[in-house]
Amino acid sequence: MILERAAVPPFLKNGFVVGCEETREAIIIDPGDEVEDLLQAVRAGRLKVTNILLTHAHLDHITGVGRAKEATSAPVWLHPDDNFLYERVVQQGIAFGFRVEAQPPVDRFYDGEGPIRFGKYGARVLHTPGHCPGGVCLAVTREDDPRPTLFVGDTLFAGSIGRTDLPGGDMETLLDSIRRVLFTFPDETPVWSGHGELTTIGQERRTNPFLT
Ligand SMILES: [Zn+2]
Ligand SMILES: [Zn+2]
Repeated sequence: MILERAAVPPFLKNGFVVGCEETREAIIIDPGDEVEDLLQAVRAGRLKVTNILLTHAHLDHITGVGRAKEATSAPVWLHPDDNFLYERVVQQGIAFGFRVEAQPPVDRFYDGEGPIRFGKYGARVLHTPGHCPGGVCLAVTREDDPRPTLFVGDTLFAGSIGRTDLPGGDMETLLDSIRRVLFTFPDETPVWSGHGELTTIGQERRTNPFLT
């Protein structure tokens, strides 16, 4: 699996390029202010981006959507329950004190688990509300290897969980999503969060103070 990550101030939000090393097909996950770094990785890897997948629609995760779509012509996917946030990205910016451009409309809404395929890989879409109503986690696996890599947006962090004080957030719902969906994966499963460093399901199961 080809995996590139980038993050820039002020949000230090992780954007990802995930690609198939055989076919060079790839996805972009959560393009934000670091989108030019992601597109540079796409060019350097001679990748063909077939889909742009959003874990949720908080502004830090979507400010690069328009640029990513312009550069790749790939469709943008979002859970329908977050479209109210997506459509209000300019107002989200005002609320946080940032000037943010409106983004092009979502092309496709997640409808079940998928998977959304790219080359020999597929991204399964797991609805994990709580941080926001339409939050999803993406479980990426190669077709001949059942071991997934998780991209969890702001649902779970190394040593923490997503905030629940923004519109549509709910702490009990978030904890339930983590336990019911994420904690069914094996301990060794890698977890890439929307902010911060790589962790694993086992590490968070054992040590995360919100979940122990
Ligand atoms: Zn968020
Ligand atoms: Zn975030």
